Amino acid sequence: MSSVMAPNVGGVGAPGRRTVYSMCGMCAVRCPMEVTVEDGRVTWLQGNTHDQALGASLCAKGAAGLFLESDDERPQTPLIRAGERGGGQWRRVSWDEALDYVAAKLTETIDVFGGRGIALSDRGGPFTDLTQTFVRALGSPNYFDHDAACAGNVHNATRSLYGFGAAGLLFDYQHCKHLVLYGRNVVESLMVKEAKAFMAAVARGMRCTYIDPRWRRGSRTGSARTSPTATTRSPACPTRRRRNVRSRS
Ligand code: SF4
Repeated sequence: MSSVMAPNVGGVGAPGRRTVYSMCGMCAVRCPMEVTVEDGRVTWLQGNTHDQALGASLCAKGAAGLFLESDDERPQTPLIRAGERGGGQWRRVSWDEALDYVAAKLTETIDVFGGRGIALSDRGGPFTDLTQTFVRALGSPNYFDHDAACAGNVHNATRSLYGFGAAGLLFDYQHCKHLVLYGRNVVESLMVKEAKAFMAAVARGMRCTYIDPRWRRGSRTGSARTSPTATTRSPACPTRRRRNVRSRS
């Protein structure tokens, strides 16, 4: 092998300490990561520091990937339901038994409904070629992922308005003076780089008005029970001022 091979190429259990560059798969944002591996075990996760906008940051879910790997309460083997649906009864099985079980169920469904009787949905991300190939091999075009109910709609709306998809839009937090958010809270519905850009903008004095169409706990902390709410916040006005957009009572 070449002496200049990438640090990722070393074998899962290679001895010593090394940094492996990877991608977080815990949500569809797919943040680039640096993974510290010591003697074949992951000992630290952080954002890829070569990415200036992300730095070492990951969200709590991404950083928890380390504990997911070592959590002995997560399923360690395939499980097959052993009682009534909802009864919480499961038995541990081998991978051979689990795969035979799934193959038998798929065969039953294809015999009755044909391949199109099967639909497969996953959460999208970098590995969908595997799942899409699988469902197509069963004779079904019925693959969808969470983008079908989420980003796909944003893309379509953006295309109809501007003629290009949402990926062509860049938000200029750096020069924004007053940001109005309707519906999506960028520090709650989290994309780490965007949240960091938002916080940096707030720190330099950007104002933000947030209109929340949902009824949520925060809506009840004000003196009026309101939803949706508009919240105005700025460094000069650190306490929130909430005003009714539409009163519920
Ligand atoms: S936002 Fe969080 S969960 Fe999603 S890819 Fe980035 S670190 Fe992972």
